[in-house]
Amino acid sequence: MSRVYNFCSGPAALPEAVLKKAQAEMLDWHGAGVSVMEMSHRSTEFMSILASAKARLKRLLSINDDYEVLFLQGGASTLFAQIPANLTNGFETACYLDTGAWSIKAIKEAKKYAKVNVVGSTKEQNYTSVPAFSDLEIDEKAAYLHLCPNETIGGLEFSELPDTSLPIVADLSSTILSRKIDVSKYGVIYAGAQKNIGPAGVVICIIRKDLLVRSSDRLPTLWNFANLAANDSMTNTPPTFAIYLADLVFEWLEAQGGVEAIEAINIRKAQALYDYIDSSAFYANPIDPAYRSRMNVPFTLADSSLESLFLKESEAAGLRTLAGHRSVGGMRASIYNAMPMEGVEALIDFMRAFEKRHG
Ligand SMILES: *Cc1c(COP(=O)(O)O)cnc(C)c1O
Repeated sequence: MSRVYNFCSGPAALPEAVLKKAQAEMLDWHGAGVSVMEMSHRSTEFMSILASAKARLKRLLSINDDYEVLFLQGGASTLFAQIPANLTNGFETACYLDTGAWSIKAIKEAKKYAKVNVVGSTKEQNYTSVPAFSDLEIDEKAAYLHLCPNETIGGLEFSELPDTSLPIVADLSSTILSRKIDVSKYGVIYAGAQKNIGPAGVVICIIRKDLLVRSSDRLPTLWNFANLAANDSMTNTPPTFAIYLADLVFEWLEAQGGVEAIEAINIRKAQALYDYIDSSAFYANPIDPAYRSRMNVPFTLADSSLESLFLKESEAAGLRTLAGHRSVGGMRASIYNAMPMEGVEALIDFMRAFEKRHG
């Protein structure tokens, strides 16, 4: 068996130590005589796993008790609808910033529940930059302001938040736990697990408790944030095995030194790759350097007819899933927390050799 460097945007690489621990505990979790997959979600064993995952996430992100941490199903895409369904109750409009493909999907769902006020968009610049926050036309009577601080497909990331009295709702699916954030500046943070947290099947929703009063009783029970919070994510059977793996990933991240330590590594990884791309006339990245994503690095080849050869040869060299999103083409290297510096160095070495052979 040999493991390759996996640059998939999601479901993405997991730390090998986590997979090994899950393997070791697969048949008999901590003497329970069963796998986590076979346990009642109401058992004391599973309740301890859920409590541990929640406590670790709260420590890693310094989440205070003003917030509920929910472990839900349906992925981030379900939350595109579930958030406006819960939070626009009693409001006419919701504000959305449009920075790319995932913003667009969130806007599309929100329109089913409220009037959407797009406060700014970089569509005209083909989403290579972020609107100037001073130009945003935020309706301060809206239900919230939604943002996607890391556009996974475009490879665009921003860390500042606009100045507003509205609760900020952020889709952090592809950047959560990769850099320090101040949770207290957000009303809701949500993130599908399969990028930086664990396997697909669980989505994390961190919601400020005062927003729970907006959830109407008329919502489907499993969509009702207030109900899910009151039942500690156990209104029905939660995705138990995915939560268990998320807990192991959080444990691994704590052992790495937490978010601050992994952020330092993430900065070095992204810097090395962008520096190499910028130094070469053979590769290019279109994003405004101020907003380049540390997690998803798209790049093109000067001669696009070499793309399929690039993918074939990189795969053979043990560098997996470098194709860009089907909507944009080109290449994309997703370098989440679980990607070690060595993987990025191996990619750069390959790119340099490929350029030598074909440039
Ligand atoms: C992957 C991703 C999603 C979609 O997640 P699903 O779990 O597939 O619904 C949404 N937003 C962002 C930013 C993503 O990267």
